[in-house]
Amino acid sequence: MTQNNTQPFPRIDDTAIRERAWKTPPARHLEGEERQQMLEKVRRLLKEQDAVLVAHYYTDDDLQMLADETGGCVSDSLEMARFGHAHPASTIVVAGVRFMGETAKILNPEKRVLMPSLEAECSLDLSCPADVFSQFCDAHPDRTVVVYANTSAAVKARADWVVTSSIATKVIKHLAAKGEKILWAPDRYLGSYVQKVTGADMLLWQGSCIVHDEFKASALAKLKQAHPEAAVLVHPESPDDVIRLADVVGSTTQIIQAATELDNPTFIVATDNGIFYKMKQAAPDKLFLEAPTGGIGASCGSCAHCPWMAMNGLENLAHTLETGDNEVQVDAETGKQALVSLNRMLRFAEAEKMAATGEANIASPA
Ligand code: SF4
Repeated sequence: MTQNNTQPFPRIDDTAIRERAWKTPPARHLEGEERQQMLEKVRRLLKEQDAVLVAHYYTDDDLQMLADETGGCVSDSLEMARFGHAHPASTIVVAGVRFMGETAKILNPEKRVLMPSLEAECSLDLSCPADVFSQFCDAHPDRTVVVYANTSAAVKARADWVVTSSIATKVIKHLAAKGEKILWAPDRYLGSYVQKVTGADMLLWQGSCIVHDEFKASALAKLKQAHPEAAVLVHPESPDDVIRLADVVGSTTQIIQAATELDNPTFIVATDNGIFYKMKQAAPDKLFLEAPTGGIGASCGSCAHCPWMAMNGLENLAHTLETGDNEVQVDAETGKQALVSLNRMLRFAEAEKMAATGEANIASPA
C-alpha cells in the first residue's frame, strides 16, 4: 500500500539552526609534539578513569584512531549503542553528537557517560522539538510512531520504535507487513527513501540533515560522467535526486562495506567526509572522491563535514576525562520510556542477526 500523505505539518523552519551550525567553530586541530602529548594524556586518562572511547565515523581521524587502539569502537550509532552497553567499563566517552551520548545514557543508566562537548548537536534532533512532536503524534493516534536515532531522549520516549539508517527499511517492512500505518520522524529524505522501498503508508516529519542536504545532483551527475569507473555510494539522508544517482544507498557501515565488496577502483561518496578514515583503512587500494556540495568554489558553509561532529577534539576529550565535566544526564523517567522503543530496535536487530548467522552476539539490555 502506498500513501503520499507527506504534507509538511507542522512546518519546520530550520534557517536559524543552519546559520548557527555553520558558524560553530571546530575543535582545535593539534599537530607535532602537542598532538603526541595530548594523545598520550588521553590514553592515560582512559585507563585511570576506567573509561572506554566510542567514536562515530564522522569524528576527527585522531579520535577514531584512539578509539580503535584503546579497545573502544568506531562505528555508526546503532553499533555505538550496542558496544557501549556490552563493554564492562564504568565510564563511556561518546565522541559524536548529543543524541548519541543520550542514547548511551539511556542504555546504561548506571554508568557515567561523558562527551567532549555537550553543545555538539544535530539538525534532525533540533528540528523535532518534543512538545510539538508529541502534539503531532496525538493528532495521528492510528499510526505507529517510528523515530530515527537522531532525536532527543524525550522524542524517543514518545515513540513506539527507534531505528537507525542501517535497520530502518527492515523495521518498516516488518511493521507494514502487519498492516501498521507509520508516523515517521524526523528525516524527510530517509523517510521518503524507506517509503519508496517498502511501499509502507508513512506520514513524514519534515526535518533534514544540514550536511547531506548540501549534496547536489547535477554536479554529482557530471562527476559520475567524468569517472565512469566509479560507483556512487549515498547515505539515505541525502536528497531524493542524489539518491537516484546512487549505485548503493546505505548507512555509514553499509557504505564502508560496499567499498570493500564492489570491484570498482573508485568511489564517489555522498556522506560526511569523516568516513574516509575508515574507508581508506578498509580498502587502501581504492580511490575515494567526495560527492559535490553547494560549497564548491564557495565558502565552507556547506562542506561535507558536520560542524557539530567537528566540535570533538583531543583537547576537550582530555578535559572531560580529567574533570568529569560534560557528563550526559537523562531524566530517569524519560530514559525508562525511551528504553522501551530503543530495546525494540535492538531486539529486532538481534533477531535479524540470529536469522542471518545462526548465533546471537548483540548485547540487548533487559
Ligand atoms: S551529519 Fe547531519 S545527521 Fe549527522 S549529526 Fe551532523 S547534522 Fe546530524
